[in-house]
Amino acid sequence: MEFREVYCISCKKVVGCYNIKFFTEDKIAEIIQTNHVSHIRNGHEVNLRKLIKN
Ligand SMILES: [Zn+2]
Repeated sequence: MEFREVYCISCKKVVGCYNIKFFTEDKIAEIIQTNHVSHIRNGHEVNLRKLIKN
């Protein structure tokens, strides 16, 4: 299964992990803007990483 990992470079941690089967890129972008926006407001650099898990 393929996931998108939301990784905060500033916190050096994964803040979320979403199965692309259930979350589109747009949906994930929306989640970042709602659930993880505090990182962005604090000027943190948030990246999306591709993750493959079996
Ligand atoms: Zn952060």
